[in-house]
Amino acid sequence: MTKPPLTLHLAAPRGFCAGVDRAIKIVEMALEKWGAPVYVRHEIVHNRYVVDGLRAKGAVFVEELDECPPARPVIFSAHGVPKSVPQAAEAREMVYVDATCPLVSKVHIEAARHHEAGLQMVMIGHAGHPETVGTMGQLPAGEVLLVETPEDVATLEPRDPGRLAFVTQTTLSVDDTAEVVGALKARFPAIVGPHKEDICYATTNRQEAVKAMAPDCDAILVVGAPNSSNSKRLVEVGARAGCPYAQLVQRAGDIDWRALDGIKSVGITAGASAPEVLIEEVIDAFRDRYQVTVRPVVTAEENVEFKVPRVLREPA
Ligand code: SF4
Repeated sequence: MTKPPLTLHLAAPRGFCAGVDRAIKIVEMALEKWGAPVYVRHEIVHNRYVVDGLRAKGAVFVEELDECPPARPVIFSAHGVPKSVPQAAEAREMVYVDATCPLVSKVHIEAARHHEAGLQMVMIGHAGHPETVGTMGQLPAGEVLLVETPEDVATLEPRDPGRLAFVTQTTLSVDDTAEVVGALKARFPAIVGPHKEDICYATTNRQEAVKAMAPDCDAILVVGAPNSSNSKRLVEVGARAGCPYAQLVQRAGDIDWRALDGIKSVGITAGASAPEVLIEEVIDAFRDRYQVTVRPVVTAEENVEFKVPRVLREPA
């Protein structure tokens, strides 16, 4: 039977960002340096395939520090941790390596700087996401007010409306965040913030690529995990940019082929924590069913790289 033709728009940039790449290298290098088991507080990055791969090499994933034996090294995930976590590790005299993405650490520093200047902080982010918890945990309880939507801004009750600053989660929707920032500036004209927002280059670039391809796609599949903020935002961006069907898939096995019946074009991208091997798996699944023509949609070049911490580059 001849396969139907399909144009496969392949977003670039897609998949792994520099912060995820660094965090995975940190776990691998820690295993090399100290041997197994090495403990990791929270999923190092939000991707089951990556986590399972590291678990097979000897990493043990836990949610809280007190689940780690004090004699073994522990790594903090790329999302960042509240200040109390490294403090607790030091109190227990544990060896720890902080795999927080440098772009998240930059937001932590911004928040601390504004706090020292006497400003109360507003964080734009998703309640309960580890990055939000980590950033809010840089300051004493009650010092950071969390908002997710423009509606939340209307109900904020700051100590002093003239002494406020804001930071954002790094993996938000660029367009949604601009609306929340607009609402903050309208209600608190003196609010101090970063030049645009703290959304990172990788999040921004992946959303731009999806926006560029969405009008040409009958469907968009985002390879990523359901707990990955930046992956979920890519689905929303695709739908909002005009694609009638945008869906998150973790693996090729998740593709709902019936929902794709009759499509002539598909867009494929991946969140910042999804490895290329999973994108290839999805592309291969389309090749099995269609006569695929791949059309790259390149909207930016990325060459960002972050160094791993010195403790891992030194001999044991
Ligand atoms: S998505 Fe952005 S902030 Fe998060 S790890 Fe990647 S580069 Fe860092």
